[in-house]
Amino acid sequence: MLVVMNPNAPKEHIERVREKILKLDCKPHEIFGKDNIAIAVLGNTKDIDKEDLSILPSVQHVLRVSKKYKLVSRMMKNEDTVLDLNGTTIGGKDLFIVAGPCSVEERESVLETAGQLNELGVKFFRAGAYKPRSSPYAFQGLKLKGLQYLDDVKKEFGMQIVTEVLNPRTINEVAEVADILQIGARNMQNFTLLEEAGATGKPILLKRGMSATVEDLLLSAEYIAAQNNSKIILCERGIRTFEKATRNTLDLNAIPVVKKHSHLPIVVDPSHGIGIADKVPAMALASVAAGADGLMLEVHHSPEDAWSDGFQTLNMADFKSLLDKVKQLAPIVGKELTI
Ligand code: PEP
Ligand code: MN
Repeated sequence: MLVVMNPNAPKEHIERVREKILKLDCKPHEIFGKDNIAIAVLGNTKDIDKEDLSILPSVQHVLRVSKKYKLVSRMMKNEDTVLDLNGTTIGGKDLFIVAGPCSVEERESVLETAGQLNELGVKFFRAGAYKPRSSPYAFQGLKLKGLQYLDDVKKEFGMQIVTEVLNPRTINEVAEVADILQIGARNMQNFTLLEEAGATGKPILLKRGMSATVEDLLLSAEYIAAQNNSKIILCERGIRTFEKATRNTLDLNAIPVVKKHSHLPIVVDPSHGIGIADKVPAMALASVAAGADGLMLEVHHSPEDAWSDGFQTLNMADFKSLLDKVKQLAPIVGKELTI
């Protein structure tokens, strides 16, 4: 349920609505629009009479939100959410680009890749210090040492860091370095992790689970939003289908569908989505054409030497040539690539 207040509703009237919601055994959650404020009623609203709230002063109207997810839905907030991360906007006109290797590797290697990306104007660097691997015998990431190298990238180049947090135990150490906390496909429905990561107040990049529906993805985002954290970036990274010719099936359908049902930005990771380096640019361009707000790409100064996912990782020349094409394509879909 959503209580939409009149523009210029005085604080006392907003407070009265909040008190009333609490009295009805629900939780109020304020949503700030461009011109006015709305108050979401969270909890069991089935038996609440709309009249109970609509008679309060400065209430414009009350509506029922039929979706299972509420805070992240367009019904709750019609305008697109645009995040501002130290001057980079995500979800607006600008296309957001995150690039870097799959894993944090030796210091020299990480700094080499980051340095080359920085030269190209990339502001957000990705690399996992904690790696979720299908096999327990595969490289699990450099962990604390990896976080230290990411911090070095930050200090050396002023780049912002996107890195994965795997479990609630390590949230604090990861959040100290990360500008955006990544929650990976395998953890999309780790609800404790979603809540605890959300509670840090840090921006969260939430990847779609490999067998999750768009509704599942939005419900997971709702867990974060319910922690009073609306700094959420959704990420389509491909789903498992019967198709074996590619690592995953990049579900481009998800982009316009998410845009219809949610105000949150959505970026695409075509590297994991198709999993074959020379086919990544095609899917990156298709993602932009379909309305994605940005791209997350695995890029390495020497993909043959990458410690993980080298087969789907772009080298610098191919990454640069992709950026040039994205720059040309972006205006056709009302976007811009300014890097
Ligand atoms: C990653 O981005 O490094 C990653 C592990 O991706 P996903 O969670 O989408 O598999
Ligand atoms: Mn990877």
